[in-house]
Amino acid sequence: MSGSVQTPSAPSLAPDRPSRAQVPEPAPHQRLPERAFTALVVFGPLAGVVVGAMALFGRGVSVTDLVLAVVLFAVTGHGLSTGFHRLFSHRSFKPARWVKIALAVAGSMAFEGSVIGWVANHRRHHAYTDRKGDPHSPYAYGTSRRQLTRGLFHAHTGWLFQGQATDEARWAPDLLSDPDLVLISNLFPVLCVVSLALPAAIGWAVTGTLAGAVGGFVWGGLVRVFFLHQTTFAVNSACHIWGTRPFTTRRSDRSTNFAPLAILSMGDNWHNLHHSLPALARHGVDPGQLDSSARLIRILEWMGAATEVRWPDPAVVEARRRPVGGPEGSPRPPGPGVG
Ligand SMILES: [Zn+2]
Ligand SMILES: [Zn+2]
Repeated sequence: MSGSVQTPSAPSLAPDRPSRAQVPEPAPHQRLPERAFTALVVFGPLAGVVVGAMALFGRGVSVTDLVLAVVLFAVTGHGLSTGFHRLFSHRSFKPARWVKIALAVAGSMAFEGSVIGWVANHRRHHAYTDRKGDPHSPYAYGTSRRQLTRGLFHAHTGWLFQGQATDEARWAPDLLSDPDLVLISNLFPVLCVVSLALPAAIGWAVTGTLAGAVGGFVWGGLVRVFFLHQTTFAVNSACHIWGTRPFTTRRSDRSTNFAPLAILSMGDNWHNLHHSLPALARHGVDPGQLDSSARLIRILEWMGAATEVRWPDPAVVEARRRPVGGPEGSPRPPGPGVG
């Protein structure tokens, strides 16, 4: 029912949209070395996309390259959506230790920061959604069409270049008390290297050629990271602007269900439901809403590797559903869970 995509409604008219006074003040920019590093991480994979596209018109892309790209996209993407997001940020289920470690390592290989830093930022996003304090709201500059256009870029990547420090001790003390997660967080730079070296090594091992190693690096490394980045960035930007809002949230919260991202985001695009009931293990609660992260959690539960899974209670979900034509925001706090 919420699969259709709406064009942006008149940005300045919705009464519950945050006022200029409510939205976050843009933080000071990073120092030059930090900005240069952020630019390398954010735009470096784009170089891989260019090289990959050029190769398409040359020798073409090999099956090995494509398999590496798709498999590593799925593995590191579920590390983010199932691990960083549903498990570590919102405690949607209790994992076996090997599941916890595997998801934390896989998510770290997505080049989106350490697990503890990612979770701290994301919990802050839920606490201050689309108002002052939100690290990446598209409403950061206001709600006029021009301000929202600028905010779209801010939410997509611009916020990464701001010197916004999120206090991990305040926002993720539970993760800081877990030695496994502290170690994996500290190993983040190493895991980034592994994330690029692994597909190159597999490409070389499969083909026995340097070209195979380069192909693995470009497609399984850079191209895969680029599309994963853009997907996560789009959840932060598009999923607060376009789409449907079938569920009630706090008044300032503008999260949406944005159907086109269902496969790439592995279910995290059902973002309005998620902001309404943050702790749920399933975000795509309506018929036909693909949610591969929920499917993975179901498999882990079946294996006995995930317990205490917070599956949706139909009565609770229906209680959060917004009547057609009803107010878009609700002064009620969101459902159980961090946020
Ligand atoms: Zn969340
Ligand atoms: Zn959000």
